Amino acid sequence: MSFLSAKNLTKYYDKSVAVKEIDFQLEQGQFISLLGPSGCGKSTTLNMLAGLESPSSGQIWLKGANITMQPPGKRDLSMVFQSYALFPHLSAQENILFGLKARKVAKPEQQKRLKHAIELVGLGEHSHKKPGQLSGGQCQRVALARSIVSQAPLCLMDEPLSNLDTKLRNEMRSEIRQLQRSLGLTVIYVTHDQVEAMSMADKIILLNRGQIEQQGSPESFYQNPQSLFVAGFIGHPPMNILRNKNQCIGVRPEHLLISDNGYLAQVNDCDYQGSQTVISVDLKQGPFAGNKLLKLCVPGKQQFSESCPIHISWQPSHEHHFCPKSGQRLAGLHYELKTAI
Ligand code: ADP
Ligand code: MG
Repeated sequence: MSFLSAKNLTKYYDKSVAVKEIDFQLEQGQFISLLGPSGCGKSTTLNMLAGLESPSSGQIWLKGANITMQPPGKRDLSMVFQSYALFPHLSAQENILFGLKARKVAKPEQQKRLKHAIELVGLGEHSHKKPGQLSGGQCQRVALARSIVSQAPLCLMDEPLSNLDTKLRNEMRSEIRQLQRSLGLTVIYVTHDQVEAMSMADKIILLNRGQIEQQGSPESFYQNPQSLFVAGFIGHPPMNILRNKNQCIGVRPEHLLISDNGYLAQVNDCDYQGSQTVISVDLKQGPFAGNKLLKLCVPGKQQFSESCPIHISWQPSHEHHFCPKSGQRLAGLHYELKTAI
């Protein structure tokens, strides 16, 4: 029996479908990321799990009980909203403690958890201010702290880091992950940022137009994208898609090589990023001649002038094959080689 399962969850708003027949399971202590572009149904799914939206059809099971019709307060979970949802008339500290007071948790325990949470999210001297006196990032940290102090076994987070600057975002990512591990929390974490999902999650569920496109470990997304949509969504820069009349293959930028006996290509642009340079080229030769703006990642600083000719190659084992019509993954050379060994 899984800790949480969503069975055939569907949500219509009027006649348009926001979430369609979603099925997934989650084990206790897992960190799951619901990933996908804006509007694909992530928040709707999370809100149904929280009990804030009722499904049009389907069921939600938590610890062996059907909770589909249970009100939010009866579900043993905490939630961090994208919009913070703080009380404007209460200080940060009072907002954080609100749920614990309502549940009549003993005062010393409240203070202990408050102190720890404030330290963890780095609110410090701001904890006496009201939301109106705090920046967006600080409000988001209050919302995170409120979820942390609740110590609910299931925590739902909707893009909790989207308003933080890059440095704090990176720090908070590992803080949340450490916290989740040390408290044994089960987390469902919504994000549109594939880097966040890849670096944090045990399991990713990628949504596309309200449906699950692929679910599995971060490695499986990188190594075995099941469709062109997944291939284009995971990886930074994303996988290059090369097409000709009959074929559609994907090769990751880090698997394209500059080599003297490769195919002729022309440089468009070099984007130096410190540890690597991303070179953009148009392919001029070979079975995929005519494909433009392919990206290559090469270590360190590499400078080529615009229109400079270079030669590129890749190993057949790094090709991902897709059906040109459906966009679905085909059992390509990569797959055959692997299974032949
Ligand atoms: P995401 O969180 O992935 O950006 P949402 O779950 O918020 O996406 O939205 C999924 C789809 O459902 C979108 O097309 C959105 O416009 C629609 N939607 C969300 N909430 C409502 C609502 N309350 N009423 C009508 N349509 C909604
Ligand atoms: Mg959303």
